[in-house]
Amino acid sequence: MDKLIYFDNNATTPVALKVFKAMEPFYKDEYGNASSIHAKGRPARLAIDKARHAIASLIGASDEDIIFTSGGTESDNIAIKGAVLANSSKGNHIITSKTEHSAVLATCKFMEKNGFTVTYLPVNKYGMVLPDDLKNAITEKTVLVTIMHANNETGTINPIKELAAIAKEKKVLFHTDAVQSFGKLDTDAGNLGVDLLSVSAHKIHGPKGVGALYVKKGVKITPLTHGGHHERKLRAGTENVPGIIGFAKAAELISVDRENKNQALTNLRNRLHNGISEKINNVYLNGHPTQRLPGTLNLSFRYIEGESIMLNLDMQGVCVSTGSACTSGTLEPSHVLTAMGVAVDIAQGSIRFSLSDINTQSEVDYCISILPEIIKRLRAMSPLKK
Ligand SMILES: *Cc1c(COP(=O)(O)O)cnc(C)c1O
Repeated sequence: MDKLIYFDNNATTPVALKVFKAMEPFYKDEYGNASSIHAKGRPARLAIDKARHAIASLIGASDEDIIFTSGGTESDNIAIKGAVLANSSKGNHIITSKTEHSAVLATCKFMEKNGFTVTYLPVNKYGMVLPDDLKNAITEKTVLVTIMHANNETGTINPIKELAAIAKEKKVLFHTDAVQSFGKLDTDAGNLGVDLLSVSAHKIHGPKGVGALYVKKGVKITPLTHGGHHERKLRAGTENVPGIIGFAKAAELISVDRENKNQALTNLRNRLHNGISEKINNVYLNGHPTQRLPGTLNLSFRYIEGESIMLNLDMQGVCVSTGSACTSGTLEPSHVLTAMGVAVDIAQGSIRFSLSDINTQSEVDYCISILPEIIKRLRAMSPLKK
């Protein structure tokens, strides 16, 4: 293959051409500040209003329930810090899960240092939070539950409807990080029953540095940035007009014909999985076999390290990522796989293929054709292989 193959769409996605085209005028002639009332400001305000409506409809929300942010990380921060600060008279207990994205985990750690207590719920072997565990963890002091919709490493989908219903019954706020599921699964906030929901543009072929937070009517949030009256005074700062326009376009494009696209993506992913399993032994799937994002395939190759596989695939033009994060020369297994009970040596041999609508069968077939040789070579050198 002379073209690079990009199988790392859970990390980020290429901006769709139509998205780029939609943004372009707002970098050129339509440079107005949406807060200006004059002839340059008004088109920007109108465009943002339209974009807000597009994002709101994908979440089944009213336009005024959508706050634009700088991305998923900021949305998670505002949701968690903002909600617990606004409700701290009620209690100081937060519930999350062990497999959250660092945007949620690091925020919870920060709150722990600032007088809050956090319960990190376990997951089952597929990476799912069990409703009974949530039921048992809620106390009088619980102010917020934050559990992700779909996991970025394994693609496993949490039973958000059931989990949110439990929180609602106990009158506890429920936030979900829906960055990976937005545009792919049903993220209608009413259907899911959530109070707060985070989304991001660059995971759905939109631009980087823009996202949104859904805040259900009546839910109190303490703002974290102070300044002008932007975004219902919840997020001060001049709006990223081109980014917001691009985000709305991406959201509009990703939702068109979604069921068929998901089916095609699932078939492509399964073709990759089957092709690899037929040619290579000692391969394990990390994540739920079916309750999983259509494009995500996290596999462990026994006896070797994910980093080595990733680097070898990279040399042959295939971009994937590892489940494990390489920290200062020591290979620490992924916190997600560890929480799922995956043995350390198997967790270290994991790589994540994340496909999107732009990937093709010939790319998948090329990957299947080069991987067996890579694995064979690495296993031959492995001290772990007997
Ligand atoms: C990418 C990602 C984020 C962070 O979003 P940014 O827009 O990159 O800040 C948060 N949560 C999940 C699950 C993600 O995959």
